[in-house]
Amino acid sequence: MNYTEESTEYLRIIDDVKNWENWSNSTIKEFHKCNKNISTTDTRIFRANDKDNNVDNSWYLAKAWIADKKEVYDEEAEEVGELINLSMFFINFCPFCGKELKKDKIT
Ligand SMILES: [Zn+2]
Repeated sequence: MNYTEESTEYLRIIDDVKNWENWSNSTIKEFHKCNKNISTTDTRIFRANDKDNNVDNSWYLAKAWIADKKEVYDEEAEEVGELINLSMFFINFCPFCGKELKKDKIT
């Protein structure tokens, strides 16, 4: 197995806020760090200014699919760490804990 899901390189990429901002073409204001988020490390909930849709202060659930060695071998990506796909959804409530996500600061 050559999966990098647990590797420090993968975690460095997935924990970098700048990467999430580049992938989503947005400016991230804050993350909802949810202790009930039982999904994998590739899912984030954040409030952001979305440059593509010109929307300010919306909350998103985002899931990033980052290339690992297997996907490079399979020629789905050119290098490890490359973004293959990002899914983003507008949300008003956290899907894990049910908290209402307001447009002002909640932390
Ligand atoms: Zn939550």
